[in-house]
Amino acid sequence: MVTLISIFLSIPLIVSGTISYCSHGTDWTDICSTGSKQSPINIVTSSATKKEKSEGINFNFTSHKVEGEFTDHNFEIEGNFVDGKLKVGSLKKGYGVQFHFHAPSEHQIDGNSYDLEMHVVQKDSAGNYLFVVGILFKKGSSSNDFIEKVIDSETEETKIDLTDILDDDLANFYYYEGSLTTPPCTESVEWFVWEEIQEISEEQLEFFTSKWAGTSSFGCGNGNNRAVQNLNSRTVTYYESSNLLVLGLSVIAFIF
Ligand SMILES: [Zn+2]
Repeated sequence: MVTLISIFLSIPLIVSGTISYCSHGTDWTDICSTGSKQSPINIVTSSATKKEKSEGINFNFTSHKVEGEFTDHNFEIEGNFVDGKLKVGSLKKGYGVQFHFHAPSEHQIDGNSYDLEMHVVQKDSAGNYLFVVGILFKKGSSSNDFIEKVIDSETEETKIDLTDILDDDLANFYYYEGSLTTPPCTESVEWFVWEEIQEISEEQLEFFTSKWAGTSSFGCGNGNNRAVQNLNSRTVTYYESSNLLVLGLSVIAFIF
């Protein structure tokens, strides 16, 4: 019995690059279990510190022809969106950009999970992770044009413009310091979680879930989301756009 248990315990959690989601990552080791700035988190909106976005945040992504593919635990698109850069206080220049998806969502807002979460990951020239933008989606009646292009990219080279979905001039977002949500769970990653929840159709969602939560042969049928982590001593900042255009659009929406 002891031997059986020890054999069981010695089975690596990552076999041939496959990440196990059977326990939503609660059994991952090293910094994944010992870190104090881990991601994802549950964002408690009433506890977030409010700041105006006057310091500026600029992504400046360019459109790029890409192909996406299902990896052993994700659907990923990599592109040389070379003009991608981020400015929050001090200017940082990023290089490679990759984006991928988790279903159900990894971040929660006030304890609510969503159907899908997109992560836009940027690294610097040394390969260090700079930031990840998280965008949440929920299933609704209308399809999402951006996601349609992502789905097309699996079968044919497709021109994708990240600014179609990362409209940083208008967006409000939550910011905190966290980690990668997959092993090695590297910390010191800056997170930007968009406040606006995007809508996707049931068919579009199935493109992702058919490979993950829709099948028991992947992650025990749980999907590919890591469980939320303790906030510990971190704070979450809510960046609110001070752009008058937002106010203008709100007024128009109210009138019509
Ligand atoms: Zn991710």
